[in-house]
Amino acid sequence: MTTAPAATSSVRDPRLGSHAGCGCCWRSWSSPPPRPRPVQRHTGATRFKSSLPTTPAWPDEWEGSCQNNRQSPVNIVTAKTQLDPNLGRFSFSGYNMKHQWVVQNNGHTVMVLLENKPSIAGGGLSTRYQATQLHLHWSRAMDRGSEHSFDGERFAMEMHIVHEKEKGLSGNASQNQFAEDEIAVLAFMVEDGSKNVNFQPLVEALSDIPRPNMNTTMKEGVSLFDLLPEEESLRHYFRYLGSLTTPTCDEKVVWTVFQKPIQLHRDQILAFSQKLFYDDQQKVNMTDNVRPVQSLGQRQVFRSGAPGLLLAQPLPTLLAPVLACLTVGFLR
Ligand SMILES: [Zn+2]
Repeated sequence: MTTAPAATSSVRDPRLGSHAGCGCCWRSWSSPPPRPRPVQRHTGATRFKSSLPTTPAWPDEWEGSCQNNRQSPVNIVTAKTQLDPNLGRFSFSGYNMKHQWVVQNNGHTVMVLLENKPSIAGGGLSTRYQATQLHLHWSRAMDRGSEHSFDGERFAMEMHIVHEKEKGLSGNASQNQFAEDEIAVLAFMVEDGSKNVNFQPLVEALSDIPRPNMNTTMKEGVSLFDLLPEEESLRHYFRYLGSLTTPTCDEKVVWTVFQKPIQLHRDQILAFSQKLFYDDQQKVNMTDNVRPVQSLGQRQVFRSGAPGLLLAQPLPTLLAPVLACLTVGFLR
């Protein structure tokens, strides 16, 4: 992938396994890739504006499964999510290992190649999954760069850590290939906030890879935990079954969308749109690499265990019993 022409999707970087250039991210396009036309046909919740004159049309007819009915991303209506006590904490392995990752402009996003295979288990997943890559989606607008949305609210960016189901000794590869949970993506919203020094090695690497098929190595070691919100917050998440967000939109992704956003400074967020280009001539800035939300249809979105529910309660609800006890005690 690192040396292949952008249009040659069949040439894959072996480090990426069987999902090079794909994961849930942009596949190869023969020219500057089409970017999403802001639409509101699937949900009234989106904040998309209707006019982006320089944005080419999103293809009406995508190949593969893109027209099917279990697609991603979706708008998560939090009041309609269902508590699932089986959605416990994740067990993260290798997420604390600092590494100078290879970072690549693949023509559609910036991708960090996770060569030494961090992995996850727990979190209601059926087995262990190995991380293959992470990448991001973004916009210049601070409320238009995420793919998923919460109650119609979108964020500046969204980061996807892509994992593949571990093929154990007893694993049946041919069967797994068609499983609805073959790929596990951990999705994190990114919001405009204070400067995040842990992201600087990645942000600084962007200047070295302006054109497609360029790659570089981070100048400092970074762990995956360095990039995430504090671990304690990672027990609060949403879960649903969906698809890759690019053609062929295979419906084989178990999505975990974490509630707590990552914070980056606005300048760090804008660096992605400013430093990266879709084309070799560096004329088309890489931005708005975001698929619009898709219909949830008959699917149910679940949320993780009771502690998340507790935190979701408005403060007066939590304080009322405490105040009542104090008042009773005071009156005695
Ligand atoms: Zn993605």
